[in-house]
Amino acid sequence: MAARAAVEFDLLATASAMADVLTADRRHIHMHPELGFEERETSAFIQRRLSDAGVTFEAGIAGTGVLATIAGSGGAGKTVLLRADIDALPIDEQADVPYRSQNPGVMHACGHDAHTAILLGTARVLAADRLRFAGTVKLAFQPCEERFPGGAIKMIEAGVMDNPTVDAAFGLHCTPQLEAGSFGFRVGPASAASDRFTISVIGRGGHAARPNSCVDAVVVAAHLVVLLQTIISRETPPIQPAVLTVGAIHAGDAHNVIPGEATIRGTVRTYDTGLREQIADRLRELVTGAARAMRAEAKVDYVFGYPSLVNDGPMTDLARSVALDLVGAEAVFVAEQALGGEDMAYFLRRAPGCFFRLGTGNRARGITYGNHHPRFDVEEAALPFGVAAMAGVALRFLGS
Ligand SMILES: [Zn+2]
Ligand SMILES: [Zn+2]
Repeated sequence: MAARAAVEFDLLATASAMADVLTADRRHIHMHPELGFEERETSAFIQRRLSDAGVTFEAGIAGTGVLATIAGSGGAGKTVLLRADIDALPIDEQADVPYRSQNPGVMHACGHDAHTAILLGTARVLAADRLRFAGTVKLAFQPCEERFPGGAIKMIEAGVMDNPTVDAAFGLHCTPQLEAGSFGFRVGPASAASDRFTISVIGRGGHAARPNSCVDAVVVAAHLVVLLQTIISRETPPIQPAVLTVGAIHAGDAHNVIPGEATIRGTVRTYDTGLREQIADRLRELVTGAARAMRAEAKVDYVFGYPSLVNDGPMTDLARSVALDLVGAEAVFVAEQALGGEDMAYFLRRAPGCFFRLGTGNRARGITYGNHHPRFDVEEAALPFGVAAMAGVALRFLGS
């Protein structure tokens, strides 16, 4: 119970005392954004800051990833992994701030700069001499979250969940829809599996006035688009969320020519793994069968993206209890289910854990733009709350 007392006693005060450093770190990373798997400067910065704090680490994991390890002075125990993603987006920053991106066309528009600064701050808190806890904290600075296949799976393949085996994993994400100083939690699926498909229809082109000597790829494609909609409406359980959207359809470029080829592209979003596979199977069967029935051929390229992110019940309760102690019930909310992809999902498939939302908005200051917006920004007063929550969750788990 010693660790638990420490959580409630002074974590927010400790994190708040380093607010200036957190802001400086976040601004440095924000000004020097790098795309996924190209985070060389960012990785070097992380390594410098960990060295400054006397934290041991291993670099070059999955390319630019860094894994820091802090063994508690209280002896052996459980192992908890805390994760931050470190990559930026191919967006030209429009925000008029003194710490604007110095790399044209690249921007930290998803708050991964804040995630990184928060995890560096968490490392400093947990490495402090006076803090005693049993067990091990691993801090994973993960490259490339924004682009499939992402850095999480590569770090896992490199062994970050092993030696010692990770018993629980936690992460957070900046959320401008919540005010700074608040948190959001959700048990169960919190983001959807995000898959994509490309269908190539191959018919036989020819003169628009001689359809009988052609196989019209446009007509076949039109049937396929309608048929695809019956997968969700007629074949999946109505109480399970699933979306199938055709986002692009291309064929032909003349009034009087029947095109011999058409391409259909789309995305499928689901929470349930079985349903995810069922939809992929049925899409292939329907598309190839229907095309054949119409004398055409269809090829399906179906790519499974990030799986759905599922928060564990007890681990979410544990993380929420830390937030309740930090900010009180009036600032702890139920997080919305999102349909975006998030590769933290891979860590949470290997160990129970929770990915929670850190409020980073400030309506009074106009910090309200959504993630991936060119004017996205983070209310930096939220950074100490992120540090206190991450450190608190780790300590409470290890002390439990
Ligand atoms: Zn993002
Ligand atoms: Zn993100």
